[in-house]
Amino acid sequence: MFKIKPKCSICEKEIKGNDVVFVKMNYPKSRGMTEIKAYLQNEGEIICEDCSQIK
Ligand SMILES: [Zn+2]
Repeated sequence: MFKIKPKCSICEKEIKGNDVVFVKMNYPKSRGMTEIKAYLQNEGEIICEDCSQIK
């Protein structure tokens, strides 16, 4: 799924298979869905379930 090792951008916990994650990103303006994956690796912030629930 990801070439880079996915880590939570807040607590830096390593994301494992089947973990629920949230990705914070700006939706690309002029790119198609086929480039979302590459875009995520460059621009996306992965946030683990624990951190996403902090209010
Ligand atoms: Zn986290």
